Amino acid sequence: MEEHIVIIGNGISGVTTARHIRKASDKKITIISAETDHFFSRTALMYIYMGHMKYEHTKPYEDYFWKKNRINLKRAFVETVDHENKQLLLSGGEKMSYDKLVLAVGSKPNKFGWPGQDLDGVQGLYSKQDLDKLEANAPDNKTCKRAVVVGGGLIGIEMVEMLLTRDIPVTFLVRENSFWNGVLPQGESEMINRHITSHHVDLRLGFNLDSILADDNGKVRAVTIKETGEEIACNVVGLTAGVSPNVAFLKDSGIELGRGIKVNPMLETNIKDIYAIGDCAEQHEGINGRRPIEAVWYTGRMMGEALAQTLTGNPTAYNPGHWFNSAKFMDIEYQTYGWVFSKPKDGNTHFHWMHKDDNKCITIEMQEGTRKFVGINNFGIRLRHELFDRWLTEERTTDYVLEHLKDANFDPEFYSHYEKDILDAYNAAYGTSLAPKKKSWKRIFA
Ligand SMILES: Cc1cc2nc3c(=O)[nH]c(=O)nc-3n(C[C@H](O)[C@H](O)[C@H](O)COP(=O)(O)OP(=O)(O)OC[C@H]3O[C@@H](n4cnc5c(N)ncnc54)[C@H](O)[C@@H]3O)c2cc1C
Repeated sequence: MEEHIVIIGNGISGVTTARHIRKASDKKITIISAETDHFFSRTALMYIYMGHMKYEHTKPYEDYFWKKNRINLKRAFVETVDHENKQLLLSGGEKMSYDKLVLAVGSKPNKFGWPGQDLDGVQGLYSKQDLDKLEANAPDNKTCKRAVVVGGGLIGIEMVEMLLTRDIPVTFLVRENSFWNGVLPQGESEMINRHITSHHVDLRLGFNLDSILADDNGKVRAVTIKETGEEIACNVVGLTAGVSPNVAFLKDSGIELGRGIKVNPMLETNIKDIYAIGDCAEQHEGINGRRPIEAVWYTGRMMGEALAQTLTGNPTAYNPGHWFNSAKFMDIEYQTYGWVFSKPKDGNTHFHWMHKDDNKCITIEMQEGTRKFVGINNFGIRLRHELFDRWLTEERTTDYVLEHLKDANFDPEFYSHYEKDILDAYNAAYGTSLAPKKKSWKRIFA
Protein backbone atom coordinates (compact mmCIF):
# COMPACT_ATOMS: atom_id res chain seq x y z
CA MET A 1 0.00 0.00 0.00
CA GLU A 2 1.12 3.55 -0.69
CA GLU A 3 2.57 5.42 2.27
CA HIS A 4 0.07 7.75 3.99
CA ILE A 5 1.36 11.31 4.45
CA VAL A 6 -0.77 13.38 6.77
CA ILE A 7 -0.34 17.15 6.82
CA ILE A 8 -1.83 19.19 9.66
CA GLY A 9 -2.62 22.67 8.34
CA ASN A 10 -4.00 23.77 4.96
CA GLY A 11 -2.07 27.04 4.70
CA ILE A 12 0.59 27.87 2.11
CA SER A 13 3.21 25.53 3.61
CA GLY A 14 0.98 22.45 4.01
CA VAL A 15 -0.68 22.88 0.64
CA THR A 16 2.61 23.46 -1.19
CA THR A 17 3.94 20.24 0.31
CA ALA A 18 0.85 18.30 -0.78
CA ARG A 19 0.91 19.68 -4.32
CA HIS A 20 4.56 18.86 -4.83
CA ILE A 21 4.25 15.38 -3.33
CA ARG A 22 1.44 14.72 -5.78
CA LYS A 23 3.51 15.98 -8.71
CA ALA A 24 6.23 13.47 -7.86
CA SER A 25 4.36 10.45 -6.47
CA ASP A 26 1.16 8.49 -5.93
CA LYS A 27 1.39 8.58 -2.15
CA LYS A 28 -1.80 8.85 -0.15
CA ILE A 29 -2.11 12.45 1.07
CA THR A 30 -4.47 13.86 3.70
CA ILE A 31 -4.58 17.49 4.78
CA ILE A 32 -6.33 18.25 8.07
CA SER A 33 -7.44 21.76 8.98
CA ALA A 34 -9.59 23.15 11.76
CA GLU A 35 -9.96 26.50 10.03
CA THR A 36 -11.56 26.15 6.60
CA ASP A 37 -12.50 23.42 4.15
CA HIS A 38 -10.20 24.79 1.47
CA PHE A 39 -6.92 26.64 1.20
CA PHE A 40 -7.26 30.41 0.92
CA SER A 41 -4.75 33.24 0.76
CA ARG A 42 -4.30 34.58 4.28
CA THR A 43 -2.58 37.69 2.95
CA ALA A 44 -5.77 38.59 1.06
CA LEU A 45 -8.04 38.51 4.13
CA MET A 46 -7.98 42.29 4.41
CA TYR A 47 -9.37 42.75 0.89
CA ILE A 48 -12.52 40.81 1.75
CA TYR A 49 -13.42 43.22 4.56
CA MET A 50 -12.46 46.15 2.35
CA GLY A 51 -14.87 44.94 -0.33
CA HIS A 52 -12.26 44.35 -3.04
CA MET A 53 -12.70 40.57 -3.08
CA LYS A 54 -15.13 37.90 -2.03
CA TYR A 55 -13.89 34.98 0.10
CA GLU A 56 -14.27 32.71 -2.97
CA HIS A 57 -11.71 34.84 -4.83
CA THR A 58 -9.04 34.19 -2.21
CA LYS A 59 -8.96 30.45 -2.98
CA PRO A 60 -6.04 29.85 -5.38
CA TYR A 61 -7.52 26.49 -6.49
CA GLU A 62 -11.05 25.54 -7.49
CA ASP A 63 -12.81 23.21 -5.06
CA TYR A 64 -12.61 20.29 -7.56
CA PHE A 65 -8.77 20.55 -7.63
CA TRP A 66 -8.35 18.48 -4.47
CA LYS A 67 -10.40 15.49 -5.55
CA LYS A 68 -8.89 15.57 -9.02
CA ASN A 69 -5.41 15.46 -7.48
CA ARG A 70 -6.38 12.82 -4.92
CA ILE A 71 -5.60 15.06 -1.95
CA ASN A 72 -8.02 14.16 0.85
CA LEU A 73 -9.26 17.11 2.89
CA LYS A 74 -10.40 16.63 6.46
CA ARG A 75 -11.97 19.39 8.53
CA ALA A 76 -11.06 18.68 12.17
CA PHE A 77 -8.89 19.90 15.01
CA VAL A 78 -6.02 17.59 15.94
CA GLU A 79 -6.07 17.25 19.71
CA THR A 80 -2.97 15.10 20.19
CA VAL A 81 -0.16 13.41 18.32
CA ASP A 82 0.71 9.89 19.52
CA HIS A 83 4.03 9.31 17.77
CA GLU A 84 4.59 5.87 19.32
CA ASN A 85 1.50 4.52 17.56
CA LYS A 86 1.75 6.99 14.65
CA GLN A 87 -1.78 8.12 15.34
CA LEU A 88 -3.64 11.42 15.66
CA LEU A 89 -6.61 12.05 17.90
CA LEU A 90 -9.07 14.37 16.22
CA SER A 91 -11.80 16.52 17.73
CA GLY A 92 -14.91 14.35 18.13
CA GLY A 93 -12.84 11.31 19.14
CA GLU A 94 -11.89 10.06 15.66
CA LYS A 95 -8.39 8.62 15.19
CA MET A 96 -6.21 8.81 12.10
CA SER A 97 -3.02 6.87 11.38
CA TYR A 98 -0.08 8.22 9.46
CA ASP A 99 3.21 6.94 8.09
CA LYS A 100 4.74 10.40 7.84
CA LEU A 101 3.41 13.50 9.56
CA VAL A 102 3.92 17.12 8.48
CA LEU A 103 3.15 19.83 11.02
CA ALA A 104 2.21 22.99 9.14
CA VAL A 105 0.10 24.52 11.88
CA GLY A 106 0.98 28.20 11.46
CA SER A 107 0.76 30.94 14.08
CA LYS A 108 -1.66 32.53 16.49
CA PRO A 109 -1.90 36.20 17.55
CA ASN A 110 -0.01 37.06 20.75
CA LYS A 111 -1.85 37.94 23.92
CA PHE A 112 0.16 39.17 26.86
CA GLY A 113 -2.25 38.54 29.74
CA TRP A 114 -3.92 41.95 29.52
CA PRO A 115 -6.96 42.21 31.82
CA GLY A 116 -10.02 41.98 29.56
CA GLN A 117 -8.17 40.40 26.61
CA ASP A 118 -10.87 37.74 26.16
CA LEU A 119 -13.87 40.09 26.26
CA ASP A 120 -16.45 40.14 23.53
CA GLY A 121 -15.20 42.65 20.91
CA VAL A 122 -11.51 41.94 21.49
CA GLN A 123 -9.89 40.03 18.66
CA GLY A 124 -6.82 39.31 16.59
CA LEU A 125 -6.53 39.28 12.80
CA TYR A 126 -5.22 35.94 11.67
CA SER A 127 -7.87 33.42 10.74
CA LYS A 128 -10.98 33.32 8.60
CA GLN A 129 -12.88 33.23 11.91
CA ASP A 130 -11.16 36.49 12.94
CA LEU A 131 -12.33 38.07 9.70
CA ASP A 132 -15.91 36.93 10.36
CA LYS A 133 -15.63 38.35 13.89
CA LEU A 134 -14.46 41.70 12.58
CA GLU A 135 -17.38 41.80 10.17
CA ALA A 136 -19.72 41.21 13.14
CA ASN A 137 -17.91 43.52 15.59
CA ALA A 138 -17.22 46.37 13.19
CA PRO A 139 -19.67 46.31 10.29
CA ASP A 140 -19.93 50.13 10.26
CA ASN A 141 -19.30 53.23 12.34
CA LYS A 142 -22.71 53.06 14.00
CA THR A 143 -21.99 49.69 15.62
CA CYS A 144 -18.31 50.47 16.15
CA LYS A 145 -17.84 54.11 17.04
CA ARG A 146 -14.11 53.71 17.63
CA ALA A 147 -11.65 50.83 17.41
CA VAL A 148 -8.33 50.60 19.20
CA VAL A 149 -5.62 48.59 17.44
CA VAL A 150 -2.80 47.49 19.75
CA GLY A 151 0.61 46.67 18.28
CA GLY A 152 2.52 48.44 15.53
CA GLY A 153 3.52 45.84 13.01
CA LEU A 154 2.41 44.68 9.58
CA ILE A 155 -0.87 43.14 10.70
CA GLY A 156 -1.70 46.13 12.93
CA ILE A 157 -1.40 48.62 10.11
CA GLU A 158 -3.50 46.36 7.87
CA MET A 159 -6.24 46.28 10.48
CA VAL A 160 -6.13 50.07 10.78
CA GLU A 161 -6.47 50.42 7.01
CA MET A 162 -9.37 47.96 6.96
CA LEU A 163 -11.32 49.83 9.63
CA LEU A 164 -10.75 53.17 7.91
CA THR A 165 -12.45 51.88 4.76
CA ARG A 166 -15.65 51.66 6.83
CA ASP A 167 -15.10 55.19 8.21
CA ILE A 168 -14.47 53.82 11.70
CA PRO A 169 -12.26 56.13 13.76
CA VAL A 170 -9.13 54.31 14.91
CA THR A 171 -6.70 54.77 17.76
CA PHE A 172 -3.44 52.95 16.98
CA LEU A 173 -1.53 52.13 20.15
CA VAL A 174 2.14 51.47 19.45
CA ARG A 175 4.56 50.58 22.23
CA GLU A 176 7.64 51.78 20.32
CA ASN A 177 8.33 55.49 20.00
CA SER A 178 8.12 55.23 16.20
CA PHE A 179 6.25 52.76 13.96
CA TRP A 180 8.03 49.36 13.52
CA ASN A 181 11.37 50.96 14.35
CA GLY A 182 12.78 47.66 15.59
CA VAL A 183 12.81 46.69 11.91
CA LEU A 184 12.79 49.90 9.89
CA PRO A 185 15.54 52.53 9.94
CA GLN A 186 14.40 55.73 11.62
CA GLY A 187 13.87 57.80 8.43
CA GLU A 188 11.50 55.18 7.01
CA SER A 189 9.72 54.61 10.28
CA GLU A 190 9.11 58.35 10.67
CA MET A 191 7.81 58.61 7.11
CA ILE A 192 5.28 55.87 7.90
CA ASN A 193 4.29 57.68 11.15
CA ARG A 194 3.45 60.73 9.05
CA HIS A 195 1.62 58.62 6.48
CA ILE A 196 -0.53 57.00 9.19
CA THR A 197 -1.48 60.32 10.78
CA SER A 198 -2.22 61.83 7.34
CA HIS A 199 -5.07 59.28 7.22
CA HIS A 200 -6.53 60.84 10.40
CA VAL A 201 -5.54 57.90 12.58
CA ASP A 202 -5.09 58.72 16.25
CA LEU A 203 -1.55 57.30 16.38
CA ARG A 204 -0.24 56.97 19.94
CA LEU A 205 3.48 56.26 19.92
CA GLY A 206 5.28 55.06 23.02
CA PHE A 207 2.17 53.90 24.84
CA ASN A 208 1.24 50.50 26.25
CA LEU A 209 -2.15 48.94 26.72
CA ASP A 210 -2.93 48.52 30.41
CA SER A 211 -6.36 46.91 30.47
CA ILE A 212 -9.56 46.44 28.51
CA LEU A 213 -12.80 47.38 30.24
CA ALA A 214 -16.22 45.78 29.84
CA ASP A 215 -19.73 47.21 29.82
CA ASP A 216 -22.61 45.60 31.73
CA ASN A 217 -23.04 42.99 29.00
CA GLY A 218 -19.41 41.87 29.07
CA LYS A 219 -18.59 43.66 25.85
CA VAL A 220 -15.57 45.92 25.47
CA ARG A 221 -16.31 49.58 26.24
CA ALA A 222 -12.84 51.13 26.64
CA VAL A 223 -9.13 50.57 27.02
CA THR A 224 -6.80 52.21 29.52
CA ILE A 225 -3.26 53.33 28.77
CA LYS A 226 -0.51 52.30 31.16
CA GLU A 227 1.63 55.43 31.06
CA THR A 228 -1.17 57.98 31.52
CA GLY A 229 -4.14 56.05 32.91
CA GLU A 230 -6.19 57.62 30.11
CA GLU A 231 -9.39 55.76 29.21
CA ILE A 232 -10.24 55.55 25.50
CA ALA A 233 -13.83 54.58 24.74
CA CYS A 234 -14.12 51.98 21.97
CA ASN A 235 -16.26 49.07 20.79
CA VAL A 236 -13.54 46.93 19.22
CA VAL A 237 -9.99 46.18 20.29
CA GLY A 238 -7.65 44.61 17.72
CA LEU A 239 -4.75 42.72 19.28
CA THR A 240 -1.97 42.72 16.69
CA ALA A 241 1.12 42.54 18.86
CA GLY A 242 2.85 39.90 16.76
CA VAL A 243 2.22 36.19 16.31
CA SER A 244 3.72 33.01 17.78
CA PRO A 245 3.82 29.43 16.55
CA ASN A 246 0.55 27.62 17.15
CA VAL A 247 2.01 24.73 19.13
CA ALA A 248 0.05 24.49 22.40
CA PHE A 249 -1.59 21.20 21.35
CA LEU A 250 1.87 19.58 21.04
CA LYS A 251 2.92 20.39 24.61
CA ASP A 252 2.93 16.78 25.84
CA SER A 253 3.62 15.11 22.51
CA GLY A 254 7.34 14.47 23.00
CA ILE A 255 8.09 16.63 19.96
CA GLU A 256 10.81 19.12 20.87
CA LEU A 257 9.46 22.64 21.20
CA GLY A 258 11.14 26.00 21.68
CA ARG A 259 9.01 28.96 20.70
CA GLY A 260 8.10 26.83 17.71
CA ILE A 261 8.67 23.22 16.65
CA LYS A 262 12.40 22.58 16.58
CA VAL A 263 13.68 21.35 13.22
CA ASN A 264 16.98 20.82 11.45
CA PRO A 265 17.64 22.06 7.89
CA MET A 266 15.95 18.87 6.57
CA LEU A 267 12.85 20.11 8.42
CA GLU A 268 12.90 17.01 10.63
CA THR A 269 11.79 17.20 14.24
CA ASN A 270 13.39 15.10 16.99
CA ILE A 271 10.82 12.36 16.27
CA LYS A 272 11.32 10.10 13.28
CA ASP A 273 8.87 10.66 10.40
CA ILE A 274 7.55 13.94 11.84
CA TYR A 275 8.46 17.20 10.10
CA ALA A 276 7.54 20.85 10.64
CA ILE A 277 7.35 23.69 8.12
CA GLY A 278 6.12 27.26 7.70
CA ASP A 279 5.34 29.69 10.52
CA CYS A 280 5.44 26.98 13.21
CA ALA A 281 8.94 25.67 12.41
CA GLU A 282 11.94 26.87 14.41
CA GLN A 283 15.43 26.13 13.12
CA HIS A 284 17.96 25.21 15.82
CA GLU A 285 20.18 27.83 14.18
CA GLY A 286 19.10 30.44 11.61
CA ILE A 287 20.26 29.43 8.11
CA ASN A 288 22.37 31.91 6.07
CA GLY A 289 21.99 34.56 8.79
CA ARG A 290 18.19 34.29 8.71
CA ARG A 291 15.98 34.15 11.79
CA PRO A 292 15.16 30.73 13.28
CA ILE A 293 11.43 31.44 12.90
CA GLU A 294 10.17 33.28 9.81
CA ALA A 295 6.44 33.90 9.84
CA VAL A 296 6.19 34.91 6.20
CA TRP A 297 4.38 33.49 3.20
CA TYR A 298 7.43 32.85 0.98
CA THR A 299 9.24 30.89 3.69
CA GLY A 300 6.26 28.55 4.07
CA ARG A 301 6.19 28.00 0.31
CA MET A 302 9.93 27.32 0.03
CA MET A 303 9.89 24.93 2.99
CA GLY A 304 6.90 23.10 1.49
CA GLU A 305 8.75 22.68 -1.82
CA ALA A 306 11.90 21.38 -0.12
CA LEU A 307 10.08 18.95 2.15
CA ALA A 308 8.02 17.49 -0.70
CA GLN A 309 11.30 16.61 -2.43
CA THR A 310 12.53 14.81 0.67
CA LEU A 311 9.26 12.94 1.12
CA THR A 312 9.35 11.70 -2.47
CA GLY A 313 12.85 10.26 -2.37
CA ASN A 314 15.03 13.26 -3.16
CA PRO A 315 16.41 14.43 0.21
CA THR A 316 16.57 18.24 0.06
CA ALA A 317 17.64 20.63 2.80
CA TYR A 318 15.82 23.90 3.25
CA ASN A 319 18.32 26.40 1.92
CA PRO A 320 16.74 29.80 1.50
CA GLY A 321 18.48 32.34 -0.66
CA HIS A 322 18.73 36.02 0.10
CA TRP A 323 16.09 37.44 2.43
CA PHE A 324 13.25 39.32 0.76
CA ASN A 325 9.79 40.42 1.77
CA SER A 326 7.08 42.81 0.71
CA ALA A 327 4.18 44.52 2.41
CA LYS A 328 2.01 47.60 2.18
CA PHE A 329 1.69 50.47 4.62
CA MET A 330 -1.68 51.86 3.57
CA ASP A 331 -0.91 53.54 0.21
CA ILE A 332 2.83 52.91 0.33
CA GLU A 333 4.26 49.68 -1.02
CA TYR A 334 7.35 48.30 0.67
CA GLN A 335 9.89 45.77 -0.53
CA THR A 336 13.10 44.63 1.07
CA TYR A 337 15.92 42.63 -0.51
CA GLY A 338 18.95 41.45 1.46
CA TRP A 339 19.52 42.89 4.91
CA VAL A 340 18.72 46.40 6.03
CA PHE A 341 18.70 46.66 9.80
CA SER A 342 17.05 49.40 11.80
CA LYS A 343 20.56 50.46 12.76
CA PRO A 344 23.45 49.43 10.49
CA LYS A 345 25.29 46.32 11.66
CA ASP A 346 28.87 46.80 12.88
CA GLY A 347 31.09 47.71 9.94
CA ASN A 348 28.10 48.77 7.82
CA THR A 349 26.52 52.11 7.04
CA HIS A 350 23.21 53.38 5.60
CA PHE A 351 22.52 55.55 2.59
CA HIS A 352 19.03 57.03 2.84
CA TRP A 353 17.16 58.94 0.15
CA MET A 354 13.71 60.41 0.52
CA HIS A 355 11.53 62.04 -2.12
CA LYS A 356 10.10 65.43 -1.27
CA ASP A 357 6.51 64.10 -1.55
CA ASP A 358 7.22 62.17 1.68
CA ASN A 359 5.81 58.92 0.21
CA LYS A 360 8.92 57.44 -1.37
CA CYS A 361 12.27 56.55 0.05
CA ILE A 362 15.02 53.99 -0.08
CA THR A 363 17.64 52.89 2.41
CA ILE A 364 20.68 50.91 1.35
CA GLU A 365 22.81 49.06 3.86
CA MET A 366 26.41 48.61 2.70
CA GLN A 367 29.82 47.82 4.08
CA GLU A 368 31.79 50.84 5.20
CA GLY A 369 34.87 51.45 3.06
CA THR A 370 34.21 48.91 0.30
CA ARG A 371 30.56 50.03 -0.06
CA LYS A 372 29.64 46.40 -0.79
CA PHE A 373 25.87 46.21 -1.17
CA VAL A 374 24.13 44.37 1.71
CA GLY A 375 20.47 45.18 1.18
CA ILE A 376 17.83 47.72 0.20
CA ASN A 377 14.46 48.84 1.55
CA ASN A 378 12.31 50.62 -0.97
CA PHE A 379 9.08 52.43 -0.28
CA GLY A 380 6.75 53.67 -3.01
CA ILE A 381 9.07 52.55 -5.85
CA ARG A 382 8.88 49.04 -7.27
CA LEU A 383 12.20 47.36 -7.88
CA ARG A 384 12.78 43.97 -9.45
CA HIS A 385 13.38 41.17 -6.97
CA GLU A 386 15.32 38.88 -9.37
CA LEU A 387 17.83 41.59 -10.15
CA PHE A 388 18.58 42.36 -6.52
CA ASP A 389 18.83 38.66 -5.81
CA ARG A 390 21.44 38.40 -8.56
CA TRP A 391 23.35 41.50 -7.44
CA LEU A 392 23.49 40.12 -3.90
CA THR A 393 24.85 36.81 -5.18
CA GLU A 394 27.37 38.64 -7.38
CA GLU A 395 28.38 40.69 -4.31
CA ARG A 396 28.08 43.97 -6.20
CA THR A 397 29.04 47.32 -4.75
CA THR A 398 26.43 49.96 -4.02
CA ASP A 399 28.07 52.12 -6.70
CA TYR A 400 27.29 49.38 -9.26
CA VAL A 401 23.74 48.91 -7.98
CA LEU A 402 22.92 52.61 -8.17
CA GLU A 403 24.51 53.06 -11.60
CA HIS A 404 22.27 50.22 -12.85
CA LEU A 405 19.17 51.15 -10.91
CA LYS A 406 17.22 51.78 -14.13
CA ASP A 407 17.46 48.05 -14.84
CA ALA A 408 15.78 47.33 -11.54
CA ASN A 409 12.91 49.77 -11.89
CA PHE A 410 9.75 47.75 -12.28
CA ASP A 411 7.43 50.64 -12.95
CA PRO A 412 6.12 51.03 -16.48
CA GLU A 413 7.90 53.52 -18.71
CA PHE A 414 5.36 56.28 -18.21
CA TYR A 415 5.89 56.32 -14.43
CA SER A 416 8.17 58.88 -12.91
CA HIS A 417 11.68 57.68 -12.32
CA TYR A 418 13.96 58.69 -9.50
CA GLU A 419 17.30 57.13 -10.38
CA LYS A 420 18.97 60.46 -11.12
CA ASP A 421 17.72 62.05 -7.88
CA ILE A 422 18.94 59.05 -5.92
CA LEU A 423 22.32 59.02 -7.60
CA ASP A 424 22.77 62.80 -7.11
CA ALA A 425 22.15 62.34 -3.39
CA TYR A 426 24.58 59.42 -3.27
CA ASN A 427 27.28 61.36 -5.19
CA ALA A 428 26.88 64.23 -2.74
CA ALA A 429 27.14 61.92 0.27
CA TYR A 430 30.12 59.84 -0.91
CA GLY A 431 32.02 62.25 -3.17
CA THR A 432 31.48 60.03 -6.23
CA SER A 433 30.52 61.16 -9.72
CA LEU A 434 28.39 58.24 -10.88
CA ALA A 435 25.86 58.61 -13.69
CA PRO A 436 22.84 56.32 -14.26
CA LYS A 437 23.44 53.74 -17.01
CA LYS A 438 20.79 53.35 -19.71
CA LYS A 439 18.28 50.60 -19.01
CA SER A 440 19.31 47.35 -20.73
CA TRP A 441 16.82 44.48 -21.23
CA LYS A 442 19.77 42.30 -22.18
CA ARG A 443 21.31 42.84 -18.76
CA ILE A 444 17.94 42.43 -17.00
CA PHE A 445 17.31 39.01 -18.53
CA ALA A 446 20.95 37.92 -18.62
C1 LIG B 1 -3.55 39.45 8.02
C2 LIG B 1 -2.25 38.85 7.58
C3 LIG B 1 -1.52 39.41 6.55
C4 LIG B 1 -0.31 38.86 6.15
N1 LIG B 1 0.39 39.44 5.13
C5 LIG B 1 1.57 38.92 4.74
C6 LIG B 1 2.31 39.49 3.66
O1 LIG B 1 1.90 40.50 3.09
N2 LIG B 1 3.49 38.89 3.28
C7 LIG B 1 3.95 37.77 3.91
O2 LIG B 1 5.01 37.25 3.54
N3 LIG B 1 3.27 37.21 4.93
C8 LIG B 1 2.09 37.75 5.35
N4 LIG B 1 1.41 37.18 6.39
C9 LIG B 1 1.96 35.97 7.02
C10 LIG B 1 1.59 34.74 6.19
O3 LIG B 1 0.23 34.79 5.87
C11 LIG B 1 1.94 33.48 6.98
O4 LIG B 1 3.34 33.46 7.15
C12 LIG B 1 1.52 32.21 6.27
O5 LIG B 1 0.17 32.24 5.89
C13 LIG B 1 1.76 31.00 7.17
O6 LIG B 1 1.44 29.85 6.47
P1 LIG B 1 1.49 28.42 7.18
O7 LIG B 1 1.10 27.46 6.12
O8 LIG B 1 2.76 28.24 7.88
O9 LIG B 1 0.36 28.49 8.32
P2 LIG B 1 -1.15 28.94 8.32
O10 LIG B 1 -1.53 29.66 7.09
O11 LIG B 1 -1.39 29.60 9.61
O12 LIG B 1 -1.94 27.56 8.30
C14 LIG B 1 -1.97 26.73 9.42
C15 LIG B 1 -3.32 26.05 9.49
O13 LIG B 1 -3.25 24.99 10.42
C16 LIG B 1 -4.44 24.96 11.15
N5 LIG B 1 -4.19 24.27 12.43
C17 LIG B 1 -3.36 24.66 13.42
N6 LIG B 1 -3.37 23.76 14.42
C18 LIG B 1 -4.23 22.79 14.05
C19 LIG B 1 -4.68 21.59 14.66
N7 LIG B 1 -4.21 21.20 15.85
N8 LIG B 1 -5.59 20.83 14.01
C20 LIG B 1 -6.04 21.20 12.78
N9 LIG B 1 -5.65 22.32 12.15
C21 LIG B 1 -4.75 23.12 12.78
C22 LIG B 1 -4.78 26.42 11.35
O14 LIG B 1 -6.13 26.59 11.70
C23 LIG B 1 -4.44 26.97 9.97
O15 LIG B 1 -5.52 26.84 9.11
C24 LIG B 1 0.18 37.71 6.81
C25 LIG B 1 -0.54 37.13 7.84
C26 LIG B 1 -1.74 37.70 8.23
C27 LIG B 1 -2.51 37.05 9.35
